[in-house]
Amino acid sequence: MPGARVVLVGVQESGNIGMVARAMKNFGLRELVLTAPQAAIGPESFKFAVGARDVLEGARTVATLDEALAGVHWVAAATARPREEYPGEPTTPREVAPFLRAALEAGQGVALVFGRERSGLTNAELDRAHFVVRIPTDPGFKSLNLAQAVLVLAYELFLARPGTTEAPTPAPAEQVEGFFRDLEGFLLEIGYTDERRLPHVMRAFRRIFHRAAPTAGELSMLRGLIRQSRWAIRREAERWR
Ligand code: SAH
Repeated sequence: MPGARVVLVGVQESGNIGMVARAMKNFGLRELVLTAPQAAIGPESFKFAVGARDVLEGARTVATLDEALAGVHWVAAATARPREEYPGEPTTPREVAPFLRAALEAGQGVALVFGRERSGLTNAELDRAHFVVRIPTDPGFKSLNLAQAVLVLAYELFLARPGTTEAPTPAPAEQVEGFFRDLEGFLLEIGYTDERRLPHVMRAFRRIFHRAAPTAGELSMLRGLIRQSRWAIRREAERWR
């Protein structure tokens, strides 16, 4: 069973990259992806990686979150700060782990996404997640060290028994993003919303579709619906010309 992919967005401390590699290897995770890192893998990283040199050496660096999530079916993003845009969320590592374990065992790709040391993840980055995960802490001090946050998620995933819910394999992340681009254009085209309110509206639609986690087939139905609607609108417009 391939393990979850760990994605660090904009990591700022090269020592942390090493500590993350070590925490991953302790709990059987090997795939580390750095997205637009602001620090490089260097001597500090290797110092903290100790016996996890191989994880560090195998790390991939990519420019965008799109590239980091290519081929992934489920995205869990870790954030210290609760955001009001995500009602009913976030969930805890312990709650989400059995589901992610089951997904991994069913051969589905899982990514655990972590943010910058100083500013965390942006809302646009959280928008990619099926699960927004918060590690419960003392309310007076919520922010963990990046590698320690990775450790907690990796540990919970390691201990969890796979849940019994068998979700059908969702469409891979890149296809879902293609649908969101179609939807965005369509919402503007039909005047459902304007440029100003678009980010807010799209955030709400993203939550709906991430919750539903459509399969590749279902996603092409949805894209087909948009295509057909565009065609019907054009035909109607021509009729009245
Ligand atoms: N000041 C930042 C904290 C960044 S800590 C903020 O307010 O978001 C670096 C990363 O570690 C975070 O982006 C998140 O992915 C993870 N992290 C830290 N504390 C966490 C917590 N309590 N729950 C979940 N993730 C956490």
